[in-house]
Amino acid sequence: MKNKIAVYPGSFDPITNGHVDLIERGLRIFDRVIIAVAPSLNKSPFFTLEERVDLIRKVIGQNPRIEIDVIDGLLVAYIKKKKAAAVIRGLRAVSDFEYEFQLALMNRKMDPNFEAVFLMPSERYTYLSSSIIKEVAKFGGSLKDMVPAVVEKELKKKMNKER
Ligand code: ADP
Repeated sequence: MKNKIAVYPGSFDPITNGHVDLIERGLRIFDRVIIAVAPSLNKSPFFTLEERVDLIRKVIGQNPRIEIDVIDGLLVAYIKKKKAAAVIRGLRAVSDFEYEFQLALMNRKMDPNFEAVFLMPSERYTYLSSSIIKEVAKFGGSLKDMVPAVVEKELKKKMNKER
């Protein structure tokens, strides 16, 4: 059985329709996708690691081709451990390119076998980012078509609690 695995790493704070779009595209190329949630403590996440994983689980549901995991060390080591063929990352605009290019080359410096596949989301999602979603939620704007309903609900609930 062929089993080409991709790792999709990120903060997912929270998961948006842009992330979901990329996961669906990844599944067209790879047999399995592992969503690897990074603690990203340097980014002071709004949702805890557990909350982010839980939201992804609710959004994705049961799919034997998708695994949700937490990544706590070097990405190159994780890829090796999971025997993954490549990493998936998203390119929304030229502005993403510079950072992604630097990241990919740094990973390749650590492991010459490192491969990254860059996917472009549907143009409906090119302007979406977890941070812009949090800004809109903070001011009570509608997040319809931007995040799954369960994410919008949890965002609003947590924002109200923190007020
Ligand atoms: P990170 O902290 O690693 O940037 P993110 O959760 O913000 O984590 O993003 C993870 C990956 O998903 C990145 O490659 C990012 O470019 C991509 N991504 C995020 N939002 C979108 C979107 N709307 N469309 C396509 N790719 C996206």
